[in-house]
Amino acid sequence: MDINEQLVAKIKSLYPGQGFIPLHIPRFLGKEKEYLIDCIDSTFVSSVGQYVNRFEEIMQEITGAKYAIATMNGTAALHLGIRLLNVKPGDEIITQPLTFVATANAIAYEHATPHFVDVDEDTMGLSPSALRLRLEEIAELRNGVCYNKQTNNKIAACVPMHTFGLPARIDEIVEVCEEYNIPVLEDSAESLGCYYNNKHTGTFGKLGTFSFNGNKTVTSGGGGAIVTDDEQMAKRAKHLSTTAKVPHKWEYVHDEIGYNYRMPNVNAALACAQLEQLDRFIEVKRSIFSEYQAFLLDKDEIQIQQELPNTISNYWLNAIRFDNTQKRDAFLEYSNNNGVMTRPAWRLMNELDMFQESPCGPLSVAENLANTVVNIPSSVNI
Ligand SMILES: *Cc1c(COP(=O)(O)O)cnc(C)c1O
Repeated sequence: MDINEQLVAKIKSLYPGQGFIPLHIPRFLGKEKEYLIDCIDSTFVSSVGQYVNRFEEIMQEITGAKYAIATMNGTAALHLGIRLLNVKPGDEIITQPLTFVATANAIAYEHATPHFVDVDEDTMGLSPSALRLRLEEIAELRNGVCYNKQTNNKIAACVPMHTFGLPARIDEIVEVCEEYNIPVLEDSAESLGCYYNNKHTGTFGKLGTFSFNGNKTVTSGGGGAIVTDDEQMAKRAKHLSTTAKVPHKWEYVHDEIGYNYRMPNVNAALACAQLEQLDRFIEVKRSIFSEYQAFLLDKDEIQIQQELPNTISNYWLNAIRFDNTQKRDAFLEYSNNNGVMTRPAWRLMNELDMFQESPCGPLSVAENLANTVVNIPSSVNI
């Protein structure tokens, strides 16, 4: 058997008794039905209800953040996060090119421009050394505010992302940003249950955002969350997500343009049941990673991406890397034709039509990863 056949056989052995093997499917093994029926019986299925409040408490417990605010999806959480950082039209926001499109879209919703900086090869997340080099080249503090001296635009924020659940070098990223007074918003959509030096991802910057989409480690159908230690930001996040309505016994008064971004109670009911299983899910997902890792140990042409020693990954989507693009494409072809779903990493953001004009540093690491990485099935297999 050639390597592609062997790896596909290995994947099938991890997910026996299934026809087609998807990349990531949800598992409902806990109190999902109980909570959903209870939620329906309560009639509180929409944006007010006990499950939404409980979801926020559980998220505070899991992440260790002082505040958590439930949103209808991860993109809405990101958008609110950008709003909370007071980004103005034309500002630049540093992020990585290797990410899901929502990261860059949320920046564009506020008419800011993503400014792409390279990732590290091991974490696939924003590289603190590339960030430092780029800022040394283009950044300048004017009265304590960071500007890109080439474009004269303010650099208003930095949005690193913990790719596929591998924690990025977030402490160093935050350190570099602090030198330039750039606030950090962590896109932790993929990194629920991940830790860097025993601190949960999403709690290093000013704000962190999460996603509970159907393909994530745990799901609420659709859902998201913002976490922060800043009380003012937390209050404002909740206010903006609930149409900026001023509390009043009967009158409808809204004091700014808000959004209908709150997570519905029915989704929160599902999320609460799912979050109760997070530890178990991650245990299983880490054992799947170990299976892949052991299998690939003596295979020279394929490497598996793994967590840094001081971090804990949820191994949301396992990522393997081929020697070259030809071999990568041959594996994509063979696996997808033989009942196993595999996917290349995203097309880089700077290559998409809408972000082609965005400023970029050198991006050779991201380019190489985009040409050689494949995600392989990583669902909880029980
Ligand atoms: C899933 C994801 C999002 C968006 O979350 P949704 O809940 O689907 O809106 C944002 N960023 C990254 C990196 C993601 O993987």
